[in-house]
Amino acid sequence: MVSYSVKGGGLVEALKMRALPEGSNDYLALLEFLKLYRDAVQLVVNKLWSLNEIPSIKTLHKMSYSELKRYGFRAHHVKQVYTYAKTIVRASKRNGGKKPVLRRLTARVDRYDYRLDLENRTLILRIHDGRVVILKLLTSIERIEKFRGWSNYEIAIKVIENEVYVAVYFRRIVKSRKTKTITTIDVNFDNVTLAVFTSSGKLLKLKRYKTPLRKILTHRIWIERIQKRYSKSWGFVKGVREVIEKHGDRMKSIALDYAHKIGDRVAEIANEHNSTIVLENLNKLRDRANSNSLFNKKLSLWFYRKIQFTINYEALERRLEVSYINPMKTSSTCPRCESRLKDNGDRVLKCSKCDFTGDRDVVACINLFYRYSRCGVPRVALNAPKGDANLRPMQGKRDEAMKSTYIRS
Ligand SMILES: [Zn+2]
Repeated sequence: MVSYSVKGGGLVEALKMRALPEGSNDYLALLEFLKLYRDAVQLVVNKLWSLNEIPSIKTLHKMSYSELKRYGFRAHHVKQVYTYAKTIVRASKRNGGKKPVLRRLTARVDRYDYRLDLENRTLILRIHDGRVVILKLLTSIERIEKFRGWSNYEIAIKVIENEVYVAVYFRRIVKSRKTKTITTIDVNFDNVTLAVFTSSGKLLKLKRYKTPLRKILTHRIWIERIQKRYSKSWGFVKGVREVIEKHGDRMKSIALDYAHKIGDRVAEIANEHNSTIVLENLNKLRDRANSNSLFNKKLSLWFYRKIQFTINYEALERRLEVSYINPMKTSSTCPRCESRLKDNGDRVLKCSKCDFTGDRDVVACINLFYRYSRCGVPRVALNAPKGDANLRPMQGKRDEAMKSTYIRS
């Protein structure tokens, strides 16, 4: 199993595998280390739980070090313990939970505290009291091959039912290549819209993909119905709980499957056009139509983030630069004269000042392009809004580019 995430301009990926302690002493020592580690994290969690504010690592260290000393940890172990404890407490407080009680045997270890020998598939782990543990990594040469030239930085190690599992986190800095065009992407409840522009604003390609958010919502509605029907008992009756979980899983798999496909599709189009990808900065997200309830809002935002994440990842894999732009008012500003656009029904927007008419999603893409290439692109050079009709969606054959495309799931 390989999982990945994107941080800054680099790719982060985890190589997860089972590991075999070289001898029984290695296993026992590792077990002892993980138990001590868990105790230490619990100790710090207890401390943090009683505080109103979560202190810095430095302050935390001053507060805890005299007690942690007896564990015989290395300096970086202790630092990881603080970080881990802080994450746990933050998450639990955010969800309004109870004080966390740790049961699992798991530790995060800094790169200073282990040595990885990929050729021989061996991991040497530095544990407490100056001891080491040797682990054989059970993985294939093929899987390791991928990470040649990446740099490893952290590992997570855990023991479940007497089996040892290791995840090695690798990082690769991606140097993006020189691009010639700009691809902007607007994501909203119904559609993902993509527009490719030349640097002078000529529209090269326009594509729209339906999102599965409505489908996802129907599962949500089912869950609510069931919960209402069994309002007192649903949490306790196994069969009911299972049905709810099933709908929940379905929601998740539809979203992830779609995000994966759209990420690949968008990055491939950008790749063909040698394009920089411009996405909306979701932290500055405007209120969107069709998401009137708080739940819908949360669900859509979660979904948008999944989509952006895969687009970003697939883009980096192709060495394409990704840029995030503040999307405020991008779907309500006239791309021709910058006046405020009015809703003309059926997702069509109209400018009362210059008579520009355009499809809402396309307007957003055009404005994202302007915002990205703010300097020096004359607004008149843009060819997109010239013929108003070709901006409206689904106008039959004449308007091939704006047909909504369904991504098969
Ligand atoms: Zn206008």
